[in-house]
Amino acid sequence: MAVAAKMSQFMEKSSWIRKMFEEGARLKKIHGQDRVFDFSLGNPNVPPPDIVREKLIELAKAEGPGMHAYMPNAGLFATRSAMSAYFCGEFCISLAHEQVVVTCGAAGGLNVIFKALLDPGDEVLCPAPYFVEYGFYADNHGGVLKTAPTLDPDFNLDLDRMQEEIGPRTKIVLINSPNNPTGQVYPEESIARLGQILRAKSSQFGHVIYLVSDEPYRKIVYDNCCVPCVFVHYPDSLITSSYSKDLSLPGERIGFVALSPSAVDGTKIIDALTLANRILGFVNAPALMQRLVVELQGVCVDVDIYKAKRDRLVTALTEFGYELTVPRGAFYLFPKSPLPDDIQFVRLLQEENILCVPGSGFAGPGHIRIAYCVDDSTIEGALPGFERAMKRSKGI
Ligand code: PLP
Repeated sequence: MAVAAKMSQFMEKSSWIRKMFEEGARLKKIHGQDRVFDFSLGNPNVPPPDIVREKLIELAKAEGPGMHAYMPNAGLFATRSAMSAYFCGEFCISLAHEQVVVTCGAAGGLNVIFKALLDPGDEVLCPAPYFVEYGFYADNHGGVLKTAPTLDPDFNLDLDRMQEEIGPRTKIVLINSPNNPTGQVYPEESIARLGQILRAKSSQFGHVIYLVSDEPYRKIVYDNCCVPCVFVHYPDSLITSSYSKDLSLPGERIGFVALSPSAVDGTKIIDALTLANRILGFVNAPALMQRLVVELQGVCVDVDIYKAKRDRLVTALTEFGYELTVPRGAFYLFPKSPLPDDIQFVRLLQEENILCVPGSGFAGPGHIRIAYCVDDSTIEGALPGFERAMKRSKGI
């Protein structure tokens, strides 16, 4: 067989989004582009803020040597400095530029962290439902992904269960807030208690358990919600994030990893992250994008646009009888599937030309994920179908 056996298994496992993509293409051929309502992908539909284009034009015109050259693997000094300065202002902590490594998005950041920290067989524990790529990323570096359930119905951290699931092989606890697929933002008290648990477990097992916070949706929050900073609550923590969602630049692959200034062996960890960035083949994050984000710290797309979409869908779906927790961040809804089998319900939605991903694809069976980073016309066009699908699921 041409493809490695493990990759064949992975391709089968990761096939939900691909299936949806293929189904979308098929349906669009039959019914036309505007009669298919695709909520399957987390691809931001809000264009980047105008200043992104302005700065890009400025940069394209800039002259000088080394504009497109290789650079230190951790990134340009100016970029690391801008990122650390933003952190200091935002979280009132002191973070030097040496604590930041510029990466190819948060996905690149997670792979760099796992490469730097995991030995074969080490476990990464994360709350479920979760972003499905985590399992592949852990495996890339010899790690094993374990999960702990979250609380019903709001998907908050079940800290007792997480405590139980942390074992002698746990090296990393990975959280994602605002969460994909649930939209949950974990409150400060939960993060504070998680920090206490990790302190106790690290000393029980005689090695540091790292807390990794995956935060590409940090700025996409609603209703004055605030995402707590893990550095405040646990010393051995790392944050990875990107500009994919808040500047709508997912195709440009720019993000970072920041290491808490209080982490034990900080210099060694940063050196490991930097080497991982190089030898995973990224070498460094794209130079043009690094220069771009220097002056765009704190800039974000208009979050009210996503909020209006969330509110429209939440109101309408609730009226139709869907059960859901109103998400406080990201651009996903994760309602309960009216049928016990979420895959069956997703098929029912497909018959209405609506594409969603079954919760099972995120280890959250019994739910569906609706990515509402889509045009308003897609939402309006889909609502009658969502209503009909609900009625049909009830045999009405
Ligand atoms: N983590 C989560 C939870 C995501 O949803 C995504 C992308 O959708 C990523 C990481 C990767 O994002 P990036 O484009 O920053 O690599």
